[in-house]
Amino acid sequence: MYSAQQIANQSLGVYQRGVVECEKCRSPIIIRQPGMVSVEFCVPCPKCGHRGIYLKRMIYIEDAADRRVKPR
Ligand SMILES: [Zn+2]
Repeated sequence: MYSAQQIANQSLGVYQRGVVECEKCRSPIIIRQPGMVSVEFCVPCPKCGHRGIYLKRMIYIEDAADRRVKPR
């Protein structure tokens, strides 16, 4: 499931994924470059299509879950 590009990014420590919860349907919305968003940002929900305004501090960063499957 992991591409070579993702593995390369992980080894550099730059692979991060942010998630915010849709304010309407509570589905997780993936933020691919959480470091790149502004303090307030607008993203459409992939599930219900609602465009919510979210704050950067509402982003939950996922970056540790992949470590144990990192190939040696
Ligand atoms: Zn939604």
